[in-house]
Amino acid sequence: MSSTWPGEGDLRDVAVVGAGPSGQFIAAELHRLGIDVALLERRSSSAHGSRAIGIHSPALAALEPSGATDRILEEAARIRRGEARTRTRTLGTVRFDHPGKRFPFSIAVPQSVTEAALSEIGPVSTRDADVVAVENAGDTVRLSTVTAGRRTEIRAKVAVIATGASGRHLVAGGSKSRTYPDHFLMADVPTGGRDSEDTAVITLERSGVLESLPLPEGGRRVVAWDAEFGTADPARDPLTRLRAAVEQRTGDAELAASIDAVSSFRIRNVLLRRMRSSRIFAIGDAAHEISPIGGQGMNLGLLDAASLAPRLALLLRDRAGAELELDRWERRRLESAGFAAKLAALNTFAGRPRSRSGHALRSIVVASALRTPVGGVAARAYGMGFDRDADFR
Ligand SMILES: Cc1cc2nc3c(=O)[nH]c(=O)nc-3n(C[C@H](O)[C@H](O)[C@H](O)COP(=O)(O)OP(=O)(O)OC[C@H]3O[C@@H](n4cnc5c(N)ncnc54)[C@H](O)[C@@H]3O)c2cc1C
Repeated sequence: MSSTWPGEGDLRDVAVVGAGPSGQFIAAELHRLGIDVALLERRSSSAHGSRAIGIHSPALAALEPSGATDRILEEAARIRRGEARTRTRTLGTVRFDHPGKRFPFSIAVPQSVTEAALSEIGPVSTRDADVVAVENAGDTVRLSTVTAGRRTEIRAKVAVIATGASGRHLVAGGSKSRTYPDHFLMADVPTGGRDSEDTAVITLERSGVLESLPLPEGGRRVVAWDAEFGTADPARDPLTRLRAAVEQRTGDAELAASIDAVSSFRIRNVLLRRMRSSRIFAIGDAAHEISPIGGQGMNLGLLDAASLAPRLALLLRDRAGAELELDRWERRRLESAGFAAKLAALNTFAGRPRSRSGHALRSIVVASALRTPVGGVAARAYGMGFDRDADFR
C-alpha cells in the first residue's frame, strides 16, 4: 500500500511516529477505517535482533479483523500449557487452552514475523524520517522531522507517538519508573531439548529462574537469571554462564550444549502518567515499557493500538461522545499497563535466587497455589486476560 511523503504544508489526518509493532498496527487499523495516515520511521530498514516472541490470545483476537492473525499463525508455535518445576520435580501446570476461547493458546513467533505481517496490511512507512519535536498547535499538531540532514515541518490533525522508549521525550507529562538490579541471559536455540513443543516451562531453582519457551519449528528460547553480570573473569563469559545455568537448573545437558549465541538484558518498568496531551497520543513502549520477564510489552502496545484506532476515527469525524471515549481509553490503558508492570515485578521477585529454606518454601507455595483456583487466575493473568481491553472469550 502506498503512502506519500507528508510534505511541508500538507495536513494529514494522523501522523504515526515509529514503525515498530504498535505504530504499524495503529497505522493499519486507521487505514482500514478509511483515515488518511502518514507513518514516519527513522530507521532506513526493518529492525533485526530477537525481542518479543509471545503473543497472547487477546492480542491475536485484536489483530484478527486486520488479517494479520492468520498470517502470523502460519509461522507460530502454539503454547497450550505452562509448567512450573524445580530441577527434580514438577510443581504444577496451568492451561491456556480453555474450551470456548477464540484462540485457546498463546503463541511464540519472532517479532520480525509479526512486524512483517503488520507491514503487509498497513500503509508503507516513510523511512529515514527522524521526528525531533511534536507540539499541539490549536486543532492540529506540528511535527518537526529531520530527513537526510534537512529539517521539515509537517502538520496532522492527530499525532500518535509509537517510538518505543527512545522517543518518550517527545511526549509531555512525566513518567514513573523502576529499574531492577536483576540481569538475564537469553538465547534462541534450534533444538528443543526434552520439553514438549506446546509447553512453556519455568524452572525455579536455588540459583534463580530458568524460562524455556517453545519456538516455531521445534526450537526453544531460554532465559536465565544471571548472578555474574559484568564479571571480568574470561572463563565466565555469558555463553559459558548460560550453558551452566541451563544444565544446572534443568539437568538438560543436550539443551545446554546446543546454545551457541547469547544476549543479555536488564529490566525496568516505565509508565507515563498520561497517554494523551490534547491531540498527541502515546502508545506501546513509548507509553509503558514493561520488563520482558512475563512477555507482555508488545501485547500491550497492540491492544493500545486496536482500542485507540476506532476512537480516533470518532474524533476525526467529529462524532458525539468522542472525547468521553478517549478519556475512557486512556484510563483503561493506564490501568492495563499498571497491572502488567505489577505482574512483571512479581515474576522478577519470584525468580530470584533463594537460600535452601527460601527455595523449599517457594516450592511449597507455588505447588500449593497451582492446585487451587489460583492456577486458573495465573493462567489468565499471564495470558493477558485481565487487560481492560482483552476480548477474553
Ligand atoms: C529480550 C526481549 C524480549 C521480549 N519479549 C516479549 C514477548 O515475548 N512478548 C511481548 O509482548 N513483548 C516482549 N518484549 C517487549 C517488546 O519487544 C516491545 O514491547 C515492543 O517491541 C514495543 O513495540 P513498539 O512498537 O511500542 O516500540 P518499538 O518496537 O521500540 O518500535 C519503535 C519504532 O519507532 C522508531 N522511532 C523511535 N524514535 C523515533 C523518532 N524520533 N522518529 C521516527 N521513528 C522513531 C524506532 O526506530 C522503532 O522502529 C520483549 C523485549 C525484549 C527486549
